[in-house]
Amino acid sequence: MTRRKLVAGNWKMNGSLAQLAELDAIAAAARTNPEVDVAICPPFTLVAPAAARGNLSIGAQDVHPNDKGAHTGDVSAAMLKEAGASLVIVGHSERRTDHAETSALVRAKAEAAIGAGLIAIVCIGETEEERLAGRAVQVVEEQLNGSIPPGATAERLVVAYEPVWAIGTGRTPTVQDVAEIHAAIRAKLRGLLGDAADQVRILYGGSVKASNAAELMAVPDVDGALVGGASLTAADFVPIVVAAAKG
Ligand code: PEP
Repeated sequence: MTRRKLVAGNWKMNGSLAQLAELDAIAAAARTNPEVDVAICPPFTLVAPAAARGNLSIGAQDVHPNDKGAHTGDVSAAMLKEAGASLVIVGHSERRTDHAETSALVRAKAEAAIGAGLIAIVCIGETEEERLAGRAVQVVEEQLNGSIPPGATAERLVVAYEPVWAIGTGRTPTVQDVAEIHAAIRAKLRGLLGDAADQVRILYGGSVKASNAAELMAVPDVDGALVGGASLTAADFVPIVVAAAKG
């Protein structure tokens, strides 16, 4: 079963017009590693100018489930599409926590994204407390149950496994733990989506960097990475793209 790896950068609330210059070197790496899909998700304000450079897939970090209306501060999937985005992250743990997003809301956002022709990267992952309690698999299965749109296909759905305790901490699970969770996610997706699950890419996210990317990208059922801090500069991000190309 061949799945093209995807390495997506999540700039979170970082970046500026000047920083978009990083995209040119990242795009050059994407061109020299054509076996990997590469994308950057900057803040909303930078989506259009980033996409206008025309050299890289650009995504957003959130989307509202509705098409339009009285939702101050929100952005619809159609607006993202018009701005040049081709993908959007939904259900990042920082949004599940900071904005009390439920899995039902995450699913509605993913449905809106898919309906507008975007790829939805649906994030799931356990807290440290849940892992220590031996509940990591159960938690991600519950999040998948609630967050995955029924009938979604691999063309428009990507899942990102991001253990909350590994995000921005420099800590990562062991490769055995990553393998176990990714296998459980694949099995759960099969239950939800049938055969289509075999083509859905499952990214690992949480403190991915140049020094650990190769071992993580070689784990079965790891189909790429969602990268936060190390996506802000080409110098840090490109080695991860290269590792994914080899992995
Ligand atoms: C993220 O927030 O999606 C993430 C993976 O962050 P970091 O790589 O900085 O841990």
